[in-house]
Amino acid sequence: MTKGRDLATTDLTVRGAGVFGLTIAWEALARGARVRVIDPRGPGGGASGGVVGALAPHAPEGWTALKAFQLDCLLAARSYWPQVEAASGRSTGYRRSGRLQPLAGDKALARARARGIAAATLWRGEATWEVTADVPEAAPVSETGLWVHDTLSAQLDPARAVAALAAAVAAAGSEVLREAGEAGAVVHATGWEGLRDLSATLRREIGGGEKGQAAVLAAEPGEIPQLYADRLHIVAHGAGRVAVGSTSERAFEGAETTDGELDAVIDRARSVAPWLRDAPVIGRWAGVRPRAVTRQPVVAPWPGRPGHVIANGGFKTGFALAPGLAPLAVDLALEGTDRVPEGFGLPL
Ligand SMILES: Cc1cc2nc3c(=O)[nH]c(=O)nc-3n(C[C@H](O)[C@H](O)[C@H](O)COP(=O)(O)OP(=O)(O)OC[C@H]3O[C@@H](n4cnc5c(N)ncnc54)[C@H](O)[C@@H]3O)c2cc1C
Repeated sequence: MTKGRDLATTDLTVRGAGVFGLTIAWEALARGARVRVIDPRGPGGGASGGVVGALAPHAPEGWTALKAFQLDCLLAARSYWPQVEAASGRSTGYRRSGRLQPLAGDKALARARARGIAAATLWRGEATWEVTADVPEAAPVSETGLWVHDTLSAQLDPARAVAALAAAVAAAGSEVLREAGEAGAVVHATGWEGLRDLSATLRREIGGGEKGQAAVLAAEPGEIPQLYADRLHIVAHGAGRVAVGSTSERAFEGAETTDGELDAVIDRARSVAPWLRDAPVIGRWAGVRPRAVTRQPVVAPWPGRPGHVIANGGFKTGFALAPGLAPLAVDLALEGTDRVPEGFGLPL
């Protein structure tokens, strides 16, 4: 198969080697297309090179197209990431960990029980959402002594998952080039900078970036569920690494710098999970999430540019959604077929 350098034999160019661009490239390669991926920063140079990796569902209530789509994606992830591992020979850190959230007070308890009943139908028996008092020692502090345990949540290690995807793409006959010309159909999976530039080009607000900072602490709690407390994700990746995050910053200057806002996240994590109190900080990371004004993903033809498709807007759940969005983007780019759910189009 081609290594993607020959312009005349390229069916698809993918701009961007984050989780969006690489899942799209892998899908197109699986369909037999000849693919080139271009990213001046290389794989995982944007938001996808992070440390948290929570694959968590929306609450099972107020059902929307996005929630239904995300459910399908989370269920499909159970086979998707192991396939990436098999194709690449590399670990993605994917694990069906489940998740624990502490319940504070009677109102939260009543809402959690109602969501448990809703989950039984909405999640089609594939996973559960239950109130429990039976938790591991590392569970976050709970005022009521009760937690929600869901079995749909999973986790992966973002930087390792992207490296594995890039290796799977290489094994399928393509590679990530720092610089090259476009040929064939073009998918723009260019993250927050792509959304910002698109807003300028189309002269209307499509989206932009929201910065996030996260840290890695040295601790080994074993294979515990993912923890969510005080709006923080705590994800135990194994090998003595526990990720905590994140901040949400709409206004920012340095996209990759960390500061006192991350120190505050670490302090909050230590207060909800006291076993982290003395754990040294071994990594600090910042990135910018691509956020469409709709807060939904965008998979759409580029207006007025035949053969060009936009795939962006993963925002806070890009790793959960990307494998499900990739076939939709490839359908649009290579076959001109539009199977994109309503609401995932370009903001009007
Ligand atoms: C702190 C933080 C924590 C997060 N936690 C989670 C989480 O727990 N779970 C989850 O699912 N998601 C999480 N996210 C969100 C997730 O990281 C993003 O939704 C996802 O990485 C977006 O992927 P992407 O491929 O669209 O963008 P990116 O990974 O940013 O990739 C875009 C790429 O395009 C390249 N590029 C830009 N312009 C061009 C061009 N002109 N030509 C070629 N290439 C170009 C860039 O170099 C970049 O590599 C988090 C994000 C942050 C910042």
